[in-house]
Amino acid sequence: MMDLFDYDDGREGYYGQYGGTFLPEILHTTIEDLKREFGSAKQDPAFWQEYVELLHSYSGRPTPVTSLDNLSRHLGGARIYAKREDLNQTGAHKINNVLGQGLLVKRMGKSRVIAETGAGQHGYATATMAARFGLKCKIYMGAVDVARQRPNVFWMEKLGAEVIAVEDGQQTLKDAINECLRDWVTNMDDTHYVLGTACGPHPFPEMVSWFQSIIGTEAREQFRVLNGSLPNRVYACVGGGSNAIGIFQGFFNDIEVELVGCEAGGFGPGAGNHAARLAYKDASVGVAQGYKTYFLQNEDGNMMHTHSVAAGLDYIGVNPILVDQWEKGRIRFEAVTDQEVTEALKLTMETEGLIPALESCHGFAQAIKEAAQMSPNESVLINMSGRGDKDIFTIADALDDQKWREFIRQKAVEYGI
Ligand SMILES: *Cc1c(COP(=O)(O)O)cnc(C)c1O
Repeated sequence: MMDLFDYDDGREGYYGQYGGTFLPEILHTTIEDLKREFGSAKQDPAFWQEYVELLHSYSGRPTPVTSLDNLSRHLGGARIYAKREDLNQTGAHKINNVLGQGLLVKRMGKSRVIAETGAGQHGYATATMAARFGLKCKIYMGAVDVARQRPNVFWMEKLGAEVIAVEDGQQTLKDAINECLRDWVTNMDDTHYVLGTACGPHPFPEMVSWFQSIIGTEAREQFRVLNGSLPNRVYACVGGGSNAIGIFQGFFNDIEVELVGCEAGGFGPGAGNHAARLAYKDASVGVAQGYKTYFLQNEDGNMMHTHSVAAGLDYIGVNPILVDQWEKGRIRFEAVTDQEVTEALKLTMETEGLIPALESCHGFAQAIKEAAQMSPNESVLINMSGRGDKDIFTIADALDDQKWREFIRQKAVEYGI
């Protein structure tokens, strides 16, 4: 596999002009320790072996590649396949990264983990890992998000984590990140910050990408066995970018395979309507949250409000490696609207009996659109990053189902969503 991270220009943690480490002085020692430990783990085949075995025994890996014959026949174009990250423990690819960082925490001899979470899925995965590894765990969440995501908060607490509702600012993800960094500064000696996606200061983009590369490594081999060739196109939804770079890495050196990142188009173009950093033209290059990338920000560098029907894609920044590969033409970015997501979900449920997470439906929607125009001799692979059970209320609302509407509304009130 090409070493995606070896840019060889002497600037550690930069991918073209993106990435870097922009942190307060006080965190430099901790980041240096983490870099050193990650560097040595990466050179140690026994570490990767332990990681793979843990995922096999605990999370059901390797997750299969499923041929979606009914959907393919219905569209009459390219053959469609899905990589089934939805079958992981906690229902999505997030557990890969979290278990990997858990093993690193053990290696560093630390005893406590902290994390920030918006929709709650990363907090849920981190609390799961902490329970399994016997680590103390504190999850920071904006107070508004705590109110919106009651079921995830419930599970985090039952798994033994302490959930802190952050009352500062807009009481959402950005405020939770600030509070989490404050905790880290105070407790560096025994605490590791489990970042949830392939963003933030070096080494996080590289480290999270490395753990998630297990998706692409498996998928490439499985696809070849199933289909006798490689897919013409690979689709993945892009929030921070971890599941996308995870599957894309398996096909990076296969230049005939087109890589398509699918962002949240929300209500469509226009500031505040979406979370498409690259496919729409509302974002610009800046430095925030410890790294340099494209951010949805205004001229003064203040972050914009973002919108997506999929909470996991609703993020202002994006993985710097993906941005650089987009500029170099290796990855194409497209935006998918909430409306297109809902239609793709309906079709996938009805033809295949699969319920992809709303995030994953962005990949499905773009693939469905394009596969119909392709030939039956061609094939496409979608990364099904997670399952849709968590989205029941949002989906019932989006499908505008009159019969279920009232019941769902009552439940939403009960849950405070
Ligand atoms: C969190 C999440 C995402 C978005 O995160 P990435 O880092 O971009 O992968 C996508 N799909 C699901 C199911 C998620 O839970």
